[in-house]
Amino acid sequence: MKIITTVSETHSEMNKVKELGKKIVIVPTMGYLHDGHLSLLNHAKELGDVVISTLFVNPKQFGPNEDYDKYPRDFERDRNLLEKTGCDYLFYPEVSEMYGEHFSTQISLGGITKILEGVTRPTHYDGVALIVLKLFNITKCDVGIFGQKDYQQFMVIQKMVNDLNLDIQLVMAPIIRENNGLAMSSRNRFLSQEEFTQAAILNKSLIAAKEKILGGMRKRNEINKFITKSLLTSSLIKIDYVETVIDFTFVLMDEFHSGDRIVILLACWFGTTRLIDNIIIQL
Ligand code: AMP
Repeated sequence: MKIITTVSETHSEMNKVKELGKKIVIVPTMGYLHDGHLSLLNHAKELGDVVISTLFVNPKQFGPNEDYDKYPRDFERDRNLLEKTGCDYLFYPEVSEMYGEHFSTQISLGGITKILEGVTRPTHYDGVALIVLKLFNITKCDVGIFGQKDYQQFMVIQKMVNDLNLDIQLVMAPIIRENNGLAMSSRNRFLSQEEFTQAAILNKSLIAAKEKILGGMRKRNEINKFITKSLLTSSLIKIDYVETVIDFTFVLMDEFHSGDRIVILLACWFGTTRLIDNIIIQL
């Protein structure tokens, strides 16, 4: 695996790859890799000829009181995992390489960036869109692969690709979970043993809701209340939001109907750790 830290070297390496007619797949990450990230890499290998992973904790997607400084980092560990998984290139820039002294461009997508995650984290998706657009440009990728774990993020990136006419195919990979059902996340390491155990309630509640919905529960308020009640059986949880929306559009219906594809999204706190999860249900 070739490690590159500068934009100019990435441009010249990717130009060489392009000249050979090869298809480039990008797997953007913030590092501290787990099996969820590695599953994206394995998908990526099937989707193209050359896989470039990026490792960058992007300061612009963290709010002022969020965990940018505390976000877990372990370059050596990540490098070994990427090498073992068969990644071709790793782009690992410094913050100064990505945002030089005179950097000032902002992206504001509006729309779905302002709801759900966007309420609690108002500038988050603008920061995500900015870094993802830069990474797409730097790596000259043909395909971008992202996890369903960050479902709203995927839809924001898809919106950017559509709105800005980027010639990039996006692929969403399934959520990889711990044995207790908790979605894998770099932030899980901050959970105490008891919090980790109780956090299984996120996935359990989503699965229980799916059964209820497939059994006939169709009113949005009822679905959200059912999940809220189930989540609150955990003594350590603090719910940020629970919402049920139409897939892709995030339209909020009072009631769902056969043929609808819906997504239930939630965010909860366990102590100082904020966790998200979701489930897609075809009615
Ligand atoms: P992050 O490093 O958290 O920014 O995540 C990098 C990519 O990995 C994003 O596309 C995430 O959606 C994806 N990802 C994170 N956790 C998981 C998981 N448990 N299963 C699948 N993909 C994941």
